[in-house]
Amino acid sequence: MIIFVDMDDVIADTYGKHIEMYNEEFKKSLSLAHFESGEVWQNVPEMHQDSIRKHARTDGFFRSLEPIKDSISVLKDLSLKHEVYIATAATQFPNSLREKSDWLDEYFPFIGWEYRIMCGHKFILKGDLLIDDRTLNLDKFDGDTLLFNSPHNVHENGYERISSWHEIAKKLL
Ligand SMILES: [Mg+2]
Repeated sequence: MIIFVDMDDVIADTYGKHIEMYNEEFKKSLSLAHFESGEVWQNVPEMHQDSIRKHARTDGFFRSLEPIKDSISVLKDLSLKHEVYIATAATQFPNSLREKSDWLDEYFPFIGWEYRIMCGHKFILKGDLLIDDRTLNLDKFDGDTLLFNSPHNVHENGYERISSWHEIAKKLL
C-alpha cells in the first residue's frame, strides 16, 4: 500500500508550537486543554492574532517543532510494511523547505529523500491512503483518507478520524 503522511499536526506538533510561542510573547500559560476548537489564533484576543499568524514565516519555526507522540516508532514500523511517503505542503512557507528537510533528518532519518514530497496541492498524488489533519487535502485525494484529530478540525463531519499514532498502528500494522 502507498501511504502519504502529512507533517504539520500529524507528525510535527505545529499547534503546540504556536501555543508555546504565544505564551512566551504574551506571558501566558495556555495549554492544549484550553483549545476546544479552531486555530490557535482564533482562540486569543484579536489584538494578538496577527502575531500568531506570523509564526510560520519565522526562521526556525519548523525546525524547532516537537514530534507528535509515537509518530517516530509507528512510522518506522509502518515504513517496513508499506511504501510510506511524507507529503507536506511546504511551498506555502518557502522558509520551511530546508527546515523540514533538516527536521526529518533528525527525527525520521529512516525516511529518505526519495520518500519526501514537499509540495503544494496533494490531490496530484497517486496512492492508496492519505493521513492529514486538513480536510481540504483529504477532500480531493483520489484514495482512502484518515483525518488526524486537531482542535482546528473538530467541527468537520463525514471523515474517518484517528486521534493518535497508537490508533494508526492498530489499524495499519
Ligand atoms: Mg497538517
